[in-house]
Amino acid sequence: MQLKLLWDIQEIDLSIRGIEGDIINAPLKSGRQEKAEALDALKVERDADEANLKAKQKKLRELEMKTQKAIDDRKQLYEKMYSGKAVNVKELEQQQYRLDQLDSERKMLEDQIIDLLESIEEQEEQLGFLCNRLSRDLADLESTEANLAAELVLLEGKLAELEGRRLIKASEIDSKYLEKYHILAEKHQGRPLARVDNNICGGCRVFISGALRGRLYNPDAMVYCENCGRLLVIIED
Ligand SMILES: [Zn+2]
Repeated sequence: MQLKLLWDIQEIDLSIRGIEGDIINAPLKSGRQEKAEALDALKVERDADEANLKAKQKKLRELEMKTQKAIDDRKQLYEKMYSGKAVNVKELEQQQYRLDQLDSERKMLEDQIIDLLESIEEQEEQLGFLCNRLSRDLADLESTEANLAAELVLLEGKLAELEGRRLIKASEIDSKYLEKYHILAEKHQGRPLARVDNNICGGCRVFISGALRGRLYNPDAMVYCENCGRLLVIIED
């Protein structure tokens, strides 16, 4: 009976080790760091694009104000020139020159505005793509994180359940068996017990000698494989 309980403990311990491995190597963990880093890089790119766009919009407002000023100045000058007040020819020439200057200035500003508007439109489109990609990647990462968290909760639950079962089993076993189990477990990579099947050791696949076989039928006797040293147990199916 003690050996059967010890065998159960070994089965539980192997399951615990398996689940601990699953927790460490959860497939959803892979690439998570890279995804988060790529997302951060995208955010930096978006922030730079937004700052760039704002600067262009500020520049646009400046150009619009300058254009308006050129228009106002021209209007004022035009009205002055044609107000009927007599001025000499030289002064009239100077005023006409200034008028032409204001016209070409306005034209130049309007060209700059058109170019800038095109550039702003492109930038907005680019920013739109970037924001879409960012929100898609963010949603992707968040769903990966949520799935991972759910998976880990499940695994932790299984682990707690196994550990509870192990405690109960262990409380039913004499400490001398458990001590031997732990010493042998270190030697045999967590598999200190071997099941005997058709007189063969399940640990090393070597035939059990006739001398040992007789002792094996005492369910509490500690019999060790002469070849690998594992504690032999007979488990009835
Ligand atoms: Zn063996």
